[in-house]
Amino acid sequence: MTSTLELAPKKRKITKQQILDLTNDLIDEYIREKNWRTPEDIRLDIQDMYETVIYPRIEYTLVTSLNLGHLENNKILGKTVPQERVILLDNSISPPNYDPRYPFTFGHEIGHAFCHTDEPESFRCSQDEISSTDSLSPKEADANFFSANFLMPEFLVKLNFHRCYNPKRPFAYYGKGQEYCFTAYGSTRIIRIDSYSHFCVTLAKPLTTFFSNVSKTSLGLRIHNLGLVLNYSKERILEDVSNIGSILKNIS
Ligand SMILES: [Zn+2]
Repeated sequence: MTSTLELAPKKRKITKQQILDLTNDLIDEYIREKNWRTPEDIRLDIQDMYETVIYPRIEYTLVTSLNLGHLENNKILGKTVPQERVILLDNSISPPNYDPRYPFTFGHEIGHAFCHTDEPESFRCSQDEISSTDSLSPKEADANFFSANFLMPEFLVKLNFHRCYNPKRPFAYYGKGQEYCFTAYGSTRIIRIDSYSHFCVTLAKPLTTFFSNVSKTSLGLRIHNLGLVLNYSKERILEDVSNIGSILKNIS
């Protein structure tokens, strides 16, 4: 078992590669614990992952019954207190009020718990920080990177994307207002697509069930970041990513 202290040395910034190695290690352990024989059997569940591989390693208690309030009009969705070894998730998104923002927020706070374990400060994370693709503080960006890779590992997103759509060639976006013909799990329908972000989110929708029922916008952003949809339109990708970020704020 890898020590988190080795991966996050005191006063030294954790690298993206270290975060990736850590999430891969956690996923590998979870798959072994679940005894899944083939990649097709894998179905990630953040609550079960917390109980199976997170708590045994770091022993952070989970509290989901409190209203965490606001910070400058931004709703606080999650909080991590390293000194008390506790993760709090706002009761408005936590079960039984299950909200699609819950899994990504949970993953984000677990990211703080692993990556910033020696910090004297606590982390109070607003919806903007958790969903934004805008420039964030390095620690918030670390936590989002952890959450994306822990909840939606690259190999599993690609595997399920190909199982669902069985694409003969890469999906390509040609511009606003076009109709696209999708065949997902063998069933075909035609959908009018309004933007590149809409395309990514539409493709993500049938796949969220494999990834803790994460929001379709979070998975759409992941599909974009993994390069699974080619953008041949004149829309600049960066502008479109911030568009996905604003969708996340509104409907995730
Ligand atoms: Zn945070």
